Amino acid sequence: MGFGKRLAKLVCVVAAWYAVGNSGRAAEPSSPSIVLQGSLGSGAAGEVTLNVSGRAGVRLVGDRETLLVLSDPRLTGAEVGVRGRWVSPNQFEVEPFHKKSFWVYKGGQRWLVFYWCDVCGIRTYTPGKCLCCQEETELKLERLPSEPGQAIQ
Ligand SMILES: [Zn+2]
Repeated sequence: MGFGKRLAKLVCVVAAWYAVGNSGRAAEPSSPSIVLQGSLGSGAAGEVTLNVSGRAGVRLVGDRETLLVLSDPRLTGAEVGVRGRWVSPNQFEVEPFHKKSFWVYKGGQRWLVFYWCDVCGIRTYTPGKCLCCQEETELKLERLPSEPGQAIQ
């Protein structure tokens, strides 16, 4: 068997594996992600809740960074959107932080939350002291493009 034929055969095998892998993943049950809109409540210690219309106190779960920002007291009462899925009747899991899975609604626009140190001009994405000068960082909002098909209220 020449090199060209062997290579062609190898490519076929890899392609077959890939197809099997993909169909396997597609068959997995996964609920599509949705956007939940509501106002952030001050839940019990360490808990983040969202008050959705007709439904108060939905518990939000997610990764550390997401919960750090959403539990920032400066955001209590803010109208926010979170993207994720229901994991239980009263618990909503927010998608990973790096996917920009939550935002603030203000003036008919979506805004990304970030933190800013005026002294150093350093931007961070979670609340707390500036890594450089240890001053408290300021909460700021950056406008996001609107999502296609996403109603903004
Ligand atoms: Zn600083």
